[in-house]
Amino acid sequence: MVTPGPESILRDTKLPRHLRAAAQKVVDGERLTPADGLMLYEEASLGYLGALANHVRERMHGDRTFFNRNFHVEPTNVCLYTCTFCSYSRRMKKREDGWEYTMDEMLDIVKQYDGKPVTEVHIVGGVLPQYDVPFYTELFRQIKAHRPELHIKALTPVEYHYIFKKAKISYEDGMRLMKEAGLDSMPGGGAEIFADEIRDQIAGGKCSGEQWLRIHEIWHELGGRSNATMLYGHIENYGHRIDHLEKLRALQDKTGGFQTYIPLKFRNENNELSHLPESTVIEDLRNYAIGRLYLDNFDHVKAYWPMIGRTTAQLSLAFGVDDLDGTIDDTTRIYSMAGGEQHPAMSTEDLVKMIRAVGRQPIERDTLYGIIEDFTDVEFASDKEYRGYTALPVV
Ligand code: SF4
Repeated sequence: MVTPGPESILRDTKLPRHLRAAAQKVVDGERLTPADGLMLYEEASLGYLGALANHVRERMHGDRTFFNRNFHVEPTNVCLYTCTFCSYSRRMKKREDGWEYTMDEMLDIVKQYDGKPVTEVHIVGGVLPQYDVPFYTELFRQIKAHRPELHIKALTPVEYHYIFKKAKISYEDGMRLMKEAGLDSMPGGGAEIFADEIRDQIAGGKCSGEQWLRIHEIWHELGGRSNATMLYGHIENYGHRIDHLEKLRALQDKTGGFQTYIPLKFRNENNELSHLPESTVIEDLRNYAIGRLYLDNFDHVKAYWPMIGRTTAQLSLAFGVDDLDGTIDDTTRIYSMAGGEQHPAMSTEDLVKMIRAVGRQPIERDTLYGIIEDFTDVEFASDKEYRGYTALPVV
């Protein structure tokens, strides 16, 4: 893919010296400080950030753009917590509006994918007392008994903190039990914004930022891998975003257990923060780029296309993103209920063509980034021109 390189930035004598100095650090592979990160959020243009983030992305991965074939099991959309940004949960008092799957119902969902080329089941949902340590360990065991090679990526520290506390066991013992039951990796959700003054307002009562980080740390110490998210574009400021990224980078220095950073855009439908405007596409792209530049010890940055839309997801591939996530079927409702794509299903062919349309190489991966197939030159039976998406020049 041809996008402007960082040379034009380094040569631009009209650019303030501190912006050129930060660009030089990126080109030299030097780490950005929190002050640099904040300065980028406050001052850097979209073009500047895109050129640098794309330089880093291509230095790490070339044009390779990863995706995996997964499906979601969402045990319930009823939740004890009352996060103000959440469009998904049906409060306890409106419990009858929600769903609460039994173990058999969840296993039936898993069995619907028998014979289909999926490699991962992603399990995450609301928090309710019946979904406890014995329930989840049994669920993981039964999934593994049914389909041993299916990678179980399940639950966030929000659920783990709650169920371990209820079982009166330590995080260490709890995560060990989950690993023994078949947990393969942890998704990145529940991180929101770590800073207490924001977290208390949008996600009060659930695990703190410190507890979220500690549970990931323990999982990494057990040899597990996980992802990390940041929910942005609500009441936080740039300082909170840098604080969040700094904490992720520091833990990654310690454990090396994170695989992928996934920025999550706040969507404002059907929740208590509906009065807030959503971030613009420009801000979304700037945020991807700064994540790529700041998290120099993370291998991957992922865009979740059902949340930002397909076109922005394509654009993000020129702003530091090297991985596109999305279900192959309509199995998640977390973002459709918040204003994202209503039926987030995309065939492998669609996803591959979406990636190719912006000049990148689509690579199917497993959860741990083992390469399954390079789709760069794969021809599909339909062999029809892909309509609706065209390569966009990025300035
Ligand atoms: S964001 Fe998660 S923890 Fe918070 S209310 Fe929604 S489902 Fe519950």
